[in-house]
Amino acid sequence: MLATLGHVADGLKYLATARRQHASDLLTAKQLAFPHSVALPHGLEVTWLGTAGFRFAYQGVVVWIDPYVTRMGLGDVVRRRVVAPSHAAVDRWIDRADAVLVGHTHFDHAMDVPVIAARTGCGVYGGGSLEHLMGLHGLADRATVVVPYHDYEIGPFKFHFVPSVHSKLQLGFRVNYGGELTCEHLDEMIPQRYRCGQVWGIALEVAGMRFYHQGSADLLDDEIRDRDMDVFLCGIAGRRFTPHYVQRVVKALAPKLIVPSHFDDFFQPLGGDPKLSFNINLTAFADEVHAASHELPIGVLEVGRPIGVSSSV
Ligand SMILES: [Zn+2]
Repeated sequence: MLATLGHVADGLKYLATARRQHASDLLTAKQLAFPHSVALPHGLEVTWLGTAGFRFAYQGVVVWIDPYVTRMGLGDVVRRRVVAPSHAAVDRWIDRADAVLVGHTHFDHAMDVPVIAARTGCGVYGGGSLEHLMGLHGLADRATVVVPYHDYEIGPFKFHFVPSVHSKLQLGFRVNYGGELTCEHLDEMIPQRYRCGQVWGIALEVAGMRFYHQGSADLLDDEIRDRDMDVFLCGIAGRRFTPHYVQRVVKALAPKLIVPSHFDDFFQPLGGDPKLSFNINLTAFADEVHAASHELPIGVLEVGRPIGVSSSV
């Protein structure tokens, strides 16, 4: 009996801490809202889609990184249910696509990509696991398996992929759902079968501005050759399992502005009130950035609200 009461008390304490953390992180997000003083080049529009998803629009061309709109529930993952990508969500959130770039193939980065490619006719770029996933949808020919550091171009966009690694979410010593995506049948694609595959950092240049996207909070320090990036789109989920992540990545990229991503609760549908993932701790992230570089500004984006004004989309 006493043990049970103890568990209940622990549970309540945990919930109270989580609630406090959430309130504190919402406040941090507001305080660190993307600064108006940072002007994007005229006509460039950048939108955070939640998770590590971003939309870039310039001169009528739209490029996405890691768009995830289906938003399966936590119960679907726990019960290992096969969840099909949501065509309705893709129709609602993906207006057009000229290319989709994919940093790794976990479901919250890649599961909607084949549907986006089928709907828009665009090509997709990533590793061998992405090509395999596209093949399950009969779209392998749309996939470009990238060569590290090779420059690709789509209209005014230029981009290359940098070898990277995934944060070791399972207690710091193993990547969850690691290895290549090898499942042979779409109707067996439970969330756990969206294996990670090769992980990439993505450097993207448009309108004279350089962005660097790191979808998972780890890196291979020596592989990063891009420096003095204008904006670093920094995935921060799982960073507590990566020793000195913020310090190391800031040192490697020397960015002028850091934009955190992947701190929202991606088990919630897109479009509702913002819900943050309480165990990621955005507030502590701000402190880690400050410790790594006193001068480096942080700009938190609002999900679905673009910065910059696109003249042509
Ligand atoms: Zn992942």
